[in-house]
Amino acid sequence: MATPLTADRLVAALRAEGVTVREVSGWRTNNRNHKGAWGPVNGVIVHHTVTGPGTDVVGLVYRGHSALPGPLATGCITKDGVVHLTGNGRANHAGGGDPDVLAAVIAESYEARPPAPHEHDGSAGAVDGNSRFYGWECENEGDGRDPWPRVQYNAMVKATAAVCRAHGWGAKSAIGHLEWSDWKPDPRGFDMKDFRSDLTACLRLQAGVWPGQQEDEEEDGMKLSDQVPVGDWVKKQWPDDAGLQDGKISVTTALGSGYAHARRAADNTTQLIAQVAALTAAVGKLAEGAGLDAAQIQAAAAAGARAALAELGEALTGGAV
Ligand SMILES: [Zn+2]
Repeated sequence: MATPLTADRLVAALRAEGVTVREVSGWRTNNRNHKGAWGPVNGVIVHHTVTGPGTDVVGLVYRGHSALPGPLATGCITKDGVVHLTGNGRANHAGGGDPDVLAAVIAESYEARPPAPHEHDGSAGAVDGNSRFYGWECENEGDGRDPWPRVQYNAMVKATAAVCRAHGWGAKSAIGHLEWSDWKPDPRGFDMKDFRSDLTACLRLQAGVWPGQQEDEEEDGMKLSDQVPVGDWVKKQWPDDAGLQDGKISVTTALGSGYAHARRAADNTTQLIAQVAALTAAVGKLAEGAGLDAAQIQAAAAAGARAALAELGEALTGGAV
């Protein structure tokens, strides 16, 4: 049982988590508390807005539309990662949902996912979610193809962490609308299981410390899990157990292997330089004894070393993944 956060506490919690907060004018008195209970609160529901570019999505979430009066959520999280606060209290976002899901959220008793919902708004066994859940409406077309910019996704995790941390809840207090109601598809484009993993990582740290999912996980549209072909040179060098399948490896394996090759190359080069130095010294001594021109022989040995190193470098880079 938790008493809803006051507007000031919510704002403070969000700021402490490091999100950019915009208080939409009038949000502190914008709610549906005259239509039903607000609290006790038990969790956070994440939604997508089903809006594209050019929509006043914040205004829509604040005011609602002809079929559904606003506020449509506690806040609207736009693609630029800003959390626009639109409602302080009961909001029209969750609707009716499954009581077994509510029980699992309250107890935080489930594993990767709460039990599949079998109720929806208006169904006989549904319970009122608008009294129990904060809601984040997150700007996205909801077609499964519209991307979730990293800055927005990170803001969604942090904003949810702000509420969970303020109430002493874990990540299992956060669910997607599709986990609450059996006729809702949102949010689409990421998995709530992964969202809760990120939320757990965020909550393990002090507020404001979680760095967020980083952009460098993708390079030129390539994901670490992608399979990429490897060249013949690499195939020859490849250890049997390195995960090479049909001539392809994952980017992660390739990067790890590239690092191992680079380490070996560096070790070999160090060894070679030492050998050449010893050889140069030995040839110098020999030249003295034989009455040859030591400077000429040393210069020849040094040139030989440069040629050997250049050849080694070519062999190593020629087979780069
Ligand atoms: Zn929804």
